[in-house]
Amino acid sequence: MKFLEPRIQAEWESSALDPTVRRIVLEAAAYAAARWDWEFALTSIWRSPEEDRALGASGIHGEWRAVDVRTRDVPPEAIEDVARAINGRWIYDPERPHFLVCVSAPHGSGPHLHFQAHARTAPQKSEPQMARMNADDRTCEKRKNATDGGSGAAT
Ligand SMILES: [Zn+2]
Repeated sequence: MKFLEPRIQAEWESSALDPTVRRIVLEAAAYAAARWDWEFALTSIWRSPEEDRALGASGIHGEWRAVDVRTRDVPPEAIEDVARAINGRWIYDPERPHFLVCVSAPHGSGPHLHFQAHARTAPQKSEPQMARMNADDRTCEKRKNATDGGSGAAT
């Protein structure tokens, strides 16, 4: 795990960070490293209201429920695979199934993967099944429309 700057590392280690989003990012990082030799670089966690507004975002970062990972120089198929695996395993909110825990669509401040968690976020599949499920579950692709910029972001 790499960090854009010391501030991001401090935020990652802060008790303020939502434990579910931390767990999701750790799982995604382990998967990305094992499958794609991709070491996650965290670029954004907490944002002040001013920083969040400047990015046209929704406030999830301001509530310590989101983590951004750099995707520059990462092959698109690796980005899509990690997003598919994580969204196949985690449900952001059963009452609002169109929101995803991992958003790869371009949004906000340039290319990145946005991870987010909600109080109702929970795993839907046990961890060992993740890699196998990933090979044959493509249905998440169609739902990839939630973002942290504008309408896609949840509260
Ligand atoms: Zn984000």
